[in-house]
Amino acid sequence: MPEVELEVEVEEVEEEEEAAVPEEVEGFAGWSGSKLEEIREALLTWYAHARRRLPWRGDPPPWSESKAKLRSEARVEQKPCMPKQRSLSSFFGLKAAPRTHSGEVQIIDLEDISQGPPADCALSRDSEDVPSQAARSFPQSAYGVWVSEVMLQQTQVEVVIGYWTRWMERFPTIEALATASADEVNAAWAGLGYYGRARRLHEGAQHVIKKHGGLLPQSCHELLRIPGIGPYTAGAIASIAFHQPAAVVDGNVVRVFSRIAALKGHAKSTALCKLCWRLAEDLLDPKQPAAFNQALMELGATVCTPLAPHCGRCPLQRACKAYQLAAEGTVASVTCFPAKYDQKHRRQRVLALAAVADASGAWMLVRRPPHGLLAGQLEFPAIQLPGEERREMQEASAEVMLHLQEMLGNFGIQGLTLTPLSAPIEHVFSHEHHTMYVFRGCLPDRGLCSQSTRDALWLTPHEAQKSGITSGLQKVLHALLPALPTKRAAKRQKR
Ligand code: SF4
Repeated sequence: MPEVELEVEVEEVEEEEEAAVPEEVEGFAGWSGSKLEEIREALLTWYAHARRRLPWRGDPPPWSESKAKLRSEARVEQKPCMPKQRSLSSFFGLKAAPRTHSGEVQIIDLEDISQGPPADCALSRDSEDVPSQAARSFPQSAYGVWVSEVMLQQTQVEVVIGYWTRWMERFPTIEALATASADEVNAAWAGLGYYGRARRLHEGAQHVIKKHGGLLPQSCHELLRIPGIGPYTAGAIASIAFHQPAAVVDGNVVRVFSRIAALKGHAKSTALCKLCWRLAEDLLDPKQPAAFNQALMELGATVCTPLAPHCGRCPLQRACKAYQLAAEGTVASVTCFPAKYDQKHRRQRVLALAAVADASGAWMLVRRPPHGLLAGQLEFPAIQLPGEERREMQEASAEVMLHLQEMLGNFGIQGLTLTPLSAPIEHVFSHEHHTMYVFRGCLPDRGLCSQSTRDALWLTPHEAQKSGITSGLQKVLHALLPALPTKRAAKRQKR
């Protein structure tokens, strides 16, 4: 999904009411013992030679493969049973942008780091997203696994490598992270998006210092008590860092299972996710939980990809029901599994924003509440308009001007002239669609708002970007100041 247009804040948004799940999901009883054994063995054999080299796995540089290489392989391996997919970018005529792989996860392999790099893992010269790889490696640690898992939840591995290495240099221990300020943490995360992850990581580190003396506990049960650690992250840390027999299920695993067993139901379906957890527990190799979990997620991230799976080199092809159905023509493609999430279920919100600048070019921003969507992030003061329908700017202007003036009164700003931008700004999350009507005003003397009763911050766009802003705020700033660097340009500068 092109992040530049569609930021997907999966973890922040309340789940939609569960759509009806086809009976086939409910009715799938699981795999037989021999099928489990076949899948397990094929996965582990494949992983032993196909694993990627990544810094949080303790691998020395070079790390990972370039997106360009993965993409070209995907093009070569497109199978007849999988009609070529048209990307969203090409459909809308947008410049190609990196896809966000929901729940993509990378893992430490404690068993085979000493084997050295596979022949095909050298970095491609066109790998612009991979950071400069200084000749140093990072020792494996449960903390490093934790950070990588959180970063990878919504972001591609090529992007995470740079952020992870800088993060580990900036906050090498849980204690260093716990004692950092919220602004320092936000700044280190700036450009990575989904800022609630950084806040939860910070809170989690403080909890570990306070309750566990700075050492992550080893069991899922205890890990789950740490703020921000859910079943997936707990399972990943316990199995990968501590070799506990804990299953993991992320978006990659749901996709792989739904294809191998041809399960119906969309990837966000609670019933499908529950079934996948059960299958993951059944399939887990208790003797090699680290390698097994990494193999499963690695397969979903690099072979059984969302739009162009590489069935031709998949170790599970023989066991894969979706592949069989596609080969015999029963379904058009393996990508029919899992079913697409119906985006029309997104909740619509219509907002009016007051974008007030002072004479020095600083803008008045506020922080969102500490919980919920985009918790603690900067935004322009806003009010939500009743109803879900996008409306004409003229209509919105007449309806909201009074409410905006009232809201600005809370900041000690009275009678400011507000001018609407010519068109609303649309911003899409996984479960919500925001239509934002922006009204701008210029305050000649900031002293006028000295009676502010809320935590307003006056920041220049550069200062705001430096401290980390959401894609939505970046989009609004860009509409106000077209010459401002885009989020992608800001990200490139940061790298
Ligand atoms: S054969 Fe294709 S669809 Fe099936 S698991 Fe492998 S990559 Fe995925």
